[in-house]
Amino acid sequence: MGTIRDIWRVNLKDCIFCNLEQSRVERENNFALSFKDLYPVTEGHSLFIPKRHVQSFFDLEKNEKEAIFELLEIEREALMEKDNLITGFNIGINDGSDAGQTVMHCHVHLIPRRKGDMDDPRGGVRGVIPEKQSY
Ligand code: 5GP
Ligand code: ZN
Repeated sequence: MGTIRDIWRVNLKDCIFCNLEQSRVERENNFALSFKDLYPVTEGHSLFIPKRHVQSFFDLEKNEKEAIFELLEIEREALMEKDNLITGFNIGINDGSDAGQTVMHCHVHLIPRRKGDMDDPRGGVRGVIPEKQSY
């Protein structure tokens, strides 16, 4: 069974995303791929990564950012077609361990949201500091 490291040899041998099983990959283009989050926040939560190992979003080349955004748009369309309860999305990057990053291979979270999936969603990503979510 192949991993993404086999097809992109500059990657790191101890990075779980560089060593993702190829069979877990859901979408792929030249410079990026996506796969389902192992511990989804909501049903359909996916991660989008560059094939090259970089830690930060700000280390990405333009073509890698474009590749990630292309897959994000494709996945959003597919999710909305499949599940008409989806009424919104959180698109997020934890950049740096102090910002919550736990896997040090840059990744974008796409988290589908459905009306009523929490009591008061107002503020969304402001919830990174929970007491500041609501304003
Ligand atoms: P971070 O906290 O770095 O922004 O997000 C890491 C994400 O990776 C988490 O949402 C977590 O659920 C997910 N994750 C951790 N380990 C694995 C794994 O082995 N496979 C997959 N698909 N997702 C993982
Ligand atoms: Zn990596």
